[in-house]
Amino acid sequence: MAKLLVIEDEPDVRSVIEYNLALAGHEVVVAGDGRQGLRLAREIRPDLVLLDLMLPDLSGIEVCRALKDDQELRGTPVLVVSALGEEIDRVVGFELGADDYVTKPFSVRELVLRVRAILRRHANSDGGAACVVFGSLRIDREAHRVWVAGDEVSLTALEFKLLLTMYERRDRVQSRDALLDQVWGSEFRISPRTVDAHVKRLREKLGTARGYVETVRGIGYRFAGVPPSG
Ligand code: CA
Repeated sequence: MAKLLVIEDEPDVRSVIEYNLALAGHEVVVAGDGRQGLRLAREIRPDLVLLDLMLPDLSGIEVCRALKDDQELRGTPVLVVSALGEEIDRVVGFELGADDYVTKPFSVRELVLRVRAILRRHANSDGGAACVVFGSLRIDREAHRVWVAGDEVSLTALEFKLLLTMYERRDRVQSRDALLDQVWGSEFRISPRTVDAHVKRLREKLGTARGYVETVRGIGYRFAGVPPSG
């Protein structure tokens, strides 16, 4: 059972979220504004914060920033739940380290699934340790080194960044454009085909672990959510 903090000022929306997440087996604590949300976050140390952006006092962005500035809360995943049309805030939210985004009006089922996915990712993760192990793959974030089944694989800086970016957003589809943006940076004018070429080379280098990087036809790529068994 995970402890979830919902920061949402609209009582109806708050009740729907609270009810359904409790139904899904979670312990749910609610806050009606940003300040109360931050106070509760420090008090209860939630496993996940569901955060509305349009709040009466502090904006969700400010709350997100405060969470990420807090030594003890910065590792807490944040799921932004906000109204359509707040695209700019969405970008800022991700820049500030929000883990995912659900647009209102949302489907309850989708919300519950997203929450589960984030909790699973965080349970599997190592809290930001330098080394991560995923199936036969081992990544040292700090040393920029990668091993497959114990053998070191020599990657270029770009290939390493590409691998790490996909790994850190695993189980989610990454469009070519999103990868271009995150790996190459949006200031470069590069064809999405470049992404394909680099992914192809990265897969060749990964050898037996190549299957961890899945192609999503017509969209982009997805790093596997769990290592293939066997
Ligand atoms: Ca609101």
